[in-house]
Amino acid sequence: MKWLVTCFLVFSMLAAQASADSGEALYSVIFSQEVMALGPDGTPYPSTTINPEQIAGMQHYLFDLGRGRQLVIETNISNAQERGLFGVADAVKRCYQYVEAASGGTLKKGVLLYLIEFDELPLSYAFEAAYPAEANWSEVRLALVRTGEPLIGPGAPLELTDLLYDTLPHELGHDILGELPALRHDIDGRPSYYTRWFIDGICELLAKGFARQESPQLLQRLLAMRNIGSVMERERIREQVFVWEQHNTHAMDVESDLYGAAMLLLTVWTERVPLDRLIGQIREQILPLDGAALRAMMEAVVGCDAEQVCQRADRAGKQLTRENVLTSRLEQSPRWGG
Ligand SMILES: [Zn+2]
Repeated sequence: MKWLVTCFLVFSMLAAQASADSGEALYSVIFSQEVMALGPDGTPYPSTTINPEQIAGMQHYLFDLGRGRQLVIETNISNAQERGLFGVADAVKRCYQYVEAASGGTLKKGVLLYLIEFDELPLSYAFEAAYPAEANWSEVRLALVRTGEPLIGPGAPLELTDLLYDTLPHELGHDILGELPALRHDIDGRPSYYTRWFIDGICELLAKGFARQESPQLLQRLLAMRNIGSVMERERIREQVFVWEQHNTHAMDVESDLYGAAMLLLTVWTERVPLDRLIGQIREQILPLDGAALRAMMEAVVGCDAEQVCQRADRAGKQLTRENVLTSRLEQSPRWGG
């Protein structure tokens, strides 16, 4: 019997203040990740608390990402190197190189990754780890691995694969865009600037670009998850994409499709101006850029109105789907070991 399991994933990074014995305040950041899975009757599965400080045999690995940035992996996997730990570190290094080359930006901070192994993966869990604020992490992430599973390649768990090849380049894209002074980002509790289609469109472009470099087979799955071949046919999506806010009441499928639509708009735009040049142009802007200003920029560069850009984006999505199906059939992926 196949159970219908609905998962809710909540991340947060909070600045916390703890008092030390000396009376001085120690500032630390608490990273938490919570996954709640609902059974078929809507009842949540009991949650497992994952606290790395209470897990036996935790090991600490440090990798140099260049330019003073580090990748730290904290794991309870005793034979992590045999299972491909260095391959994970190499993938993160290539991800940094790809995001910087494609965007023309510079990443300043590193990555802290928790890889926690279980014989049986918990469906619902709450994870919390604290680290000093000066640690300066760009990303802090957790991936759960089943005992004995490889960490890299086609046999690795989907959660870890998607983290390395999709989530990480996407989030590093946010770091690059966060450095552009004129670009407005939505802030909790304030009215939206409606820049999300542009920001998440670029981040998705970087994520899928990295996945393409690493494995056409993987890219095919990721593009299919975003319904890239048909998303722009949906009137609701075309209406919503330019008024897409950080906080909204969209169902999960609509939200996922909006990422796909945003990526396709940026695909059309970057066919005219390469991504690194586009980001360079945004970097030079002095006046604040909201969604409407970005939309006007896009229309001027592409040479048609937003509705027509959406039509081109639809064609680009269909083309991308056809090309990628072909490439993933023909090509082996040396890095992926396919
Ligand atoms: Zn994003």
